Amino acid sequence: MNNKNIYMDYQSAKPVDAEVIDSMNEYHQTRYGNPSSLHKIGDDATETLDSSRETIAKWIHGEKDEVLFTSGATESINLGIIGYALRNKRKGNHIIMSEVEHISLHNIAKYLERNGFQISKVPVDQYGRIKLDKLRSRIKEETILISVQMANNEIGTIQPIKEIGEIAKEKGIAFHTDAVAAEGQMDIDVQANNINLMTLSSNDIYGPRGVGVLYMQKGFRVQPLIIGGGQERGFRSGSENMPGIVGMKKAVEILEHKMGAELERMKSFQKLFIKEILESNPDTYLNGHPVHRLINNSHFRFDGIEGESILLSFKDKNIAVSTGSACSSKTLEPSHTLIATGLLHEEAHGSLELTTGRYTNLEEVKTVIEEVPGIVKRLRDLSPLYKK
Ligand code: PMP
Repeated sequence: MNNKNIYMDYQSAKPVDAEVIDSMNEYHQTRYGNPSSLHKIGDDATETLDSSRETIAKWIHGEKDEVLFTSGATESINLGIIGYALRNKRKGNHIIMSEVEHISLHNIAKYLERNGFQISKVPVDQYGRIKLDKLRSRIKEETILISVQMANNEIGTIQPIKEIGEIAKEKGIAFHTDAVAAEGQMDIDVQANNINLMTLSSNDIYGPRGVGVLYMQKGFRVQPLIIGGGQERGFRSGSENMPGIVGMKKAVEILEHKMGAELERMKSFQKLFIKEILESNPDTYLNGHPVHRLINNSHFRFDGIEGESILLSFKDKNIAVSTGSACSSKTLEPSHTLIATGLLHEEAHGSLELTTGRYTNLEEVKTVIEEVPGIVKRLRDLSPLYKK
């Protein structure tokens, strides 16, 4: 990225760490073996696959054979939810999820409903946190699975995962969490939180795209959705993406020594964003939770303006920002997450999401803060919606 461009959209995509790319190269060119082969270069691949699984398992406090490699978060979510539903349909056909899940879960819900499952969605409070009493009240005899994200990819709200895990365990229901947005920002501990199934993506920790993990705890099985040569113990066939897997392993190793300092920096950027943008722009509000919040995320709402026009104004200045989830940004619908927090359509449309990351610096943060009032004022002057 050249110096003139400022990137404040780390939640949508992250650059791959240079050390990660270095670690992957030899697996493309010299150590290109297939773990299914019985010769030496195949054995080398088997050992690498094994040690990658081990590194990732340690990171999440799981065990090596509970880590299944996939092609990314979307596939992991499909395998975790549809795979679990199909394998366990004799036990029940009811699944619970939250209103603020990633769009992929809402579409999976529609798919499962067309295929004989019932889905209940649990509402959230004004900050996007799931209402635990409502979660309890949705549970019935036929409930086999609860899926609630660890943190929200748009407004950054962190869910009460430990409490949800306890409820699921107490009721004998499996618990899947989409941990993608939380990766690299908080400790992820499957044991302490009673997580049985969990989705992870490599790019969210500066690893390559096209790699993800489904954590599947011993005793919790899914029906495979990709059938073939029986790789990943038959749960996910297809020759393993060895360079990608090695890249994800390296990304985890880097995280272990970079995460502490990185979090401190992002915390200070978030503090600045929230303080300065709220102070220097009237009729401006913070979306998401003030405390239970990912520290890379600052998400604002401006009365009387369209998020889309804020984004385009920043684009003209070579600054990349977002209005919400990249996966649904090309629809004209307001964000389902913001609507779930109780905002009106016009309020949900006036949002700006700033997400920082490993390569964000203070100067960039200050530049963005300085640009906001001018953009907001100009758009409000043009807006028939804004009461002056
Ligand atoms: N879950 C969350 C919380 C996400 O933000 C995303 C998108 N990055 C996904 C799932 C799907 O990820 P992918 O498109 O990489 O499969």
